[in-house]
Amino acid sequence: MKRRSPPPTPGVAMEAVKAIYQELAERPIERNCLLRTDCCRFRLTGRTPFLTKGEALVAAKAVRVSGRKRLPESIDGACPLLDHPTGRCLIYEGRPFGCRTHFCAAAGGPYARSEVVDLIHRLEDIDRTLGGDGAMALPIAVERALREA
Ligand code: SF4
Repeated sequence: MKRRSPPPTPGVAMEAVKAIYQELAERPIERNCLLRTDCCRFRLTGRTPFLTKGEALVAAKAVRVSGRKRLPESIDGACPLLDHPTGRCLIYEGRPFGCRTHFCAAAGGPYARSEVVDLIHRLEDIDRTLGGDGAMALPIAVERALREA
């Protein structure tokens, strides 16, 4: 009888997610982000990034590293992780996959799913091994991961 491998520890899962982010960064897909942060303004775009559990753990850790225990309040329907005084992402190094692949039109537009679908499947696999419930909206996913940490 085949034995199931044990679920990964959160630390191992987070390293696997970061490796996926690194692979994405190495793909020759040209975009020119000018840090306009338009894509962080969910009320304007009508789109909120969805995170798998591994991505949420990475984002929650970055929130903690920034000295916070909870998500900041969302202002004007923007991402709660968009820092209004500076206009910068509070967790840029740990930002989720959707933030790394969804570019505004001025930056060249979002990546085609076919360009990154293999990486999406790997994120979904990690979600399953962590017992996640599938991808969920950024504020819910990160708040949940902060509570679990
Ligand atoms: S996590 Fe950062 S990059 Fe992603 S939408 Fe929020 S502020 Fe923007």
